[in-house]
Amino acid sequence: MDVKPSGARPSLGPLARLAPEPMKVVLNWGRRYSLWVFNFGLACCAIEFIAASMARHDFIRLGVIPFAPGPRQADLMVVSGTVTDKMAPAVKRLYEQMPEPKYVISFGACSNCGGPYWDSYAVTKGVDQIIPVDVYVPGCPPRPEALLQGILKLQEKIAQESVSGRYEAARPPAAEEGGR
Ligand code: SF4
Repeated sequence: MDVKPSGARPSLGPLARLAPEPMKVVLNWGRRYSLWVFNFGLACCAIEFIAASMARHDFIRLGVIPFAPGPRQADLMVVSGTVTDKMAPAVKRLYEQMPEPKYVISFGACSNCGGPYWDSYAVTKGVDQIIPVDVYVPGCPPRPEALLQGILKLQEKIAQESVSGRYEAARPPAAEEGGR
């Protein structure tokens, strides 16, 4: 009979990898499969986004829930279409109204970098100039399958995320906090 040396821990197998941050695993699992989506449709790409939510592509099976009534209930903003300089402050404001943890997918060439309107005086050259973007989906327009791929990429990213790090990054500076 094998006798373990005093103080030795029994092997937990795959669970051992999870042991340092069990809460991270549980929280990230819940987050990645319950993404309430807020569609910021601004032009033609929004039609492809709608197609991705319909029965043929059905992004609900990946854990994306259409559609949050507004930004305050949303976890994920999908910016699909041309962001004009006139619209940019509204995009930023609605993003700021979303609670943490929040994620952004930039869907299509226009929201990635201005797309065909990259030299227009009226178009913002990428939504990442005003809000942070987690995943970029290329195309003009991208197919609905490309959005599904982008959602899977985002879920991979969420699975690796540090929960406390996310909140620390989102916390306002101390002076601002005290002023509220
Ligand atoms: Fe329209 Fe192409 Fe811009 Fe999408 S990327 S909004 S399809 S012009």
